[in-house]
Amino acid sequence: MQGSPYLEPVARAGPVGRYAPSPTGDLHLGNLRTALLAHEDCRRRGGTFILRIEDIDTPRTVPGSEQRIMDDLRWLGLDWDEGPDTGGPAGPYRQSERTALYEAALAALEAAGRIYYCTCSRRDLREASAPQGPEGPVYPGICRTSDAVSQRAHPAGAAARFSVGPEPVVEFHDRLLGPQRFDLRTLSGDFVVRRRDGLWAYQLACAVDDALMGVTHVVRGADLLSSTPRQIALLRVLGLPLPEYMHVPLVADADGQRMSKRDGSLSLRTLRERGLSPRDARNLIREAPLL
Ligand code: GLU
Repeated sequence: MQGSPYLEPVARAGPVGRYAPSPTGDLHLGNLRTALLAHEDCRRRGGTFILRIEDIDTPRTVPGSEQRIMDDLRWLGLDWDEGPDTGGPAGPYRQSERTALYEAALAALEAAGRIYYCTCSRRDLREASAPQGPEGPVYPGICRTSDAVSQRAHPAGAAARFSVGPEPVVEFHDRLLGPQRFDLRTLSGDFVVRRRDGLWAYQLACAVDDALMGVTHVVRGADLLSSTPRQIALLRVLGLPLPEYMHVPLVADADGQRMSKRDGSLSLRTLRERGLSPRDARNLIREAPLL
């Protein structure tokens, strides 16, 4: 890809880590364990730590949640060098303020012939008997016109899909889990980078931000392991640097299920309200049962 002025990673010296919560509710113990591990991993290597707020899914954003997340992280003893409240050279640090960068990335992917527009509904996918992948239907390519993908303008109400075509098998090394290999044809098929409702997909926004912010070490929950090959595929086509990845186990709730912000899993707020000290909370998080 020819470098777009927009898509230049910030100049950095040294390692960079990050925590990238979505402001969709209070952080639970699982989120906090990941945050602490990412922070420790970064500080251990003397790195710069970034807090990035992933608020692109605006309908799911809970007002006030960003502030509560930052309060909780600080209360727990976690600090960051760059973030929405502190600023820094790679800002803005809220995804809702970075959409010009995602536009530039989409244009670059389009120029590389890797984007097509898709008007399929869930029902269309059912009717086409799309095969089920680990995360839902694998897109069977209904709207793909050819492998040399069209560059027509974004039609209203159409999703932009990334064609996994030429390099569908992605291999990478996870610092904890070891060698990984995914075939995007059976994982997701051509995946959405901008949704039909115009919202940016997590895969595009996260990949572009990690690269442009100069993140060298991504530490995140194991639920995102299968997102990584999609993000690597995008970064390769964009000619942007790849971070190293580590996916850490998730914390189990009392029923042995994965914690979720929505179903009222134990939040740090609850622990604070019960009078726990930050140190007790950190110990509880360290000893929490894992999935
Ligand atoms: N924003 C995502 C979440 O809260 C995490 C993204 C990431 O760490 O890559 O689940």
